[in-house]
Amino acid sequence: MVRELSHYIGGRHAGGTSGRFGDVFDPCTGDVQARLPLADRDEVQAAVAAAAEAQPDWAALNPQRRGRILLKFVDLVNRNMDELARLLSSEHGKTLADSIGDIQRGLEVVEFAAGAPHLLKGEFSSDAGQGIDIHSLRQPLGVVAGITPFNFPAMIPLWKSGPALAAGNAFVLKPSERDPSVPLRLAELYSEAGVPDGVFSVVNGDKEAVDALLEDPRVKAVGFVGSTPIAQYIYATAAAHGKRAQCFGGAKNHMVVMPDADLDQAADALIGSGYGSAGERCMAISVAVPVGPDTADRLVARLEERVRKLTVGHSLDAGSDFGPVVSAAAKDRIEGLISSGVDDGATLLADGRGLTVDGYPGGFWVGPALFDHVTPDMAIYRNEIFGPVLSVVRAATYDDALRLCTDNPFGNGVAIFTRDGDSARDFATRVDVGMVGVNVPIPVPLAYYTFGGWKASGFGDLNQHGADAFRFYTKTKTVTTRWPSGIRHGASFVMPEGS
Ligand code: NAD
Repeated sequence: MVRELSHYIGGRHAGGTSGRFGDVFDPCTGDVQARLPLADRDEVQAAVAAAAEAQPDWAALNPQRRGRILLKFVDLVNRNMDELARLLSSEHGKTLADSIGDIQRGLEVVEFAAGAPHLLKGEFSSDAGQGIDIHSLRQPLGVVAGITPFNFPAMIPLWKSGPALAAGNAFVLKPSERDPSVPLRLAELYSEAGVPDGVFSVVNGDKEAVDALLEDPRVKAVGFVGSTPIAQYIYATAAAHGKRAQCFGGAKNHMVVMPDADLDQAADALIGSGYGSAGERCMAISVAVPVGPDTADRLVARLEERVRKLTVGHSLDAGSDFGPVVSAAAKDRIEGLISSGVDDGATLLADGRGLTVDGYPGGFWVGPALFDHVTPDMAIYRNEIFGPVLSVVRAATYDDALRLCTDNPFGNGVAIFTRDGDSARDFATRVDVGMVGVNVPIPVPLAYYTFGGWKASGFGDLNQHGADAFRFYTKTKTVTTRWPSGIRHGASFVMPEGS
């Protein structure tokens, strides 16, 4: 019997009424493990209505009390960590340790957001004019929505909902239809922690549910993470409906390896960041850029040796370095791109196509693929592969390497491996990419900094988490005050000046 999942609306599970369903797979076996209801407009509107009704009381609770509820939620998630991580691995396919990391990096943002009393403080100017004071307030937007991708089914819903809730908003989440069970479980834990009914809801669905959220005038802001074409669509549609939007898209992250780098460290970093989570991370490194032919030869030899030792296996097997990719369609797409690399003349040093894993003949397996002599005109360079495929693009000089990273249409993450402080500093200053690592392959900033890519990796002007999240999820009100005893003149017909 295949389980039937639900939505979570108004503090309880709600069965689907649209009559449309999607399949949720176990990527290790290829079997359907659950049926997911896909919400129609009425179901989305019910979630938004419940959110709109609950939000004013939630906003009226002082921020410290909201923060305490969030800390209780963090505690509950920690107590249920093992169950949540297993659930996450069973639908996504990433290893158990990686699932724990997914949840943990989300929780860190909720912990940060519990500091709402400080983060929501406004500004105050005494005596801005004679007898006049000015202060600003940060007020919640009301109902806000999150639309999130499959690859971090815990972290990204938590990155969005933690700050939104802490700021006094009600939140409607439309998670990925491929791995919805962890978001549903998080909804239960929010309720258990004391988040009032309706303040956090989950509607499952596809484009129909997303469009209903984008078009509903009660939804004031949309936070999106996913692929670039959909990010652009959400950004444009949300703006056309008068909403705030921050939309983060795909990536093609490079790692420049300078001749003076420790090449063993650089190779280890490339293996972990290129193949970890089967390459299904927006901050995965998918392009290695060694500078100079000698560096390239020595780096490629080290990569080849390490790739051969990687173990692809069941996500719950502690011996697996990485698990399957998320779907049969993803496997076909990645294998097709590997074939295109061969056809385009790149040198395939390790071939991930056609991998089988004993005991799991139907799993969505792709082995680690390594290409050398990739050039920027090839499809494997131009596309985000989002699979376990690492391409080596050889650069003649540091300037060529810098230009390659800067000219790439994506601008999520980038890294440089070097022992030279001047090169590192120059690179970090000049590269046209949002997040930079110096001898750090996946430079995901911690909760109290902000996360956001540039160019085709991010649309909107505020980043996720850190102080930006509180700017995004609040509107600023500015109050100018003068008391009657300070009003000494009659009507004035000129614009008052600050001086
Ligand atoms: P996706 O774009 O297919 O889906 C993301 C969300 O959009 C899902 O909730 C999905 O249901 C919805 N969606 C899909 N098609 C839609 C449509 N036509 N109209 C409206 N909504 C639609 O992305 P994915 O495959 O789930 O996730 C992988 C992508 O996300 C990769 O490109 C990856 O780089 C990106 N990503 C980016 C970041 C970042 O911070 N920049 C982080 C994680 C993932």
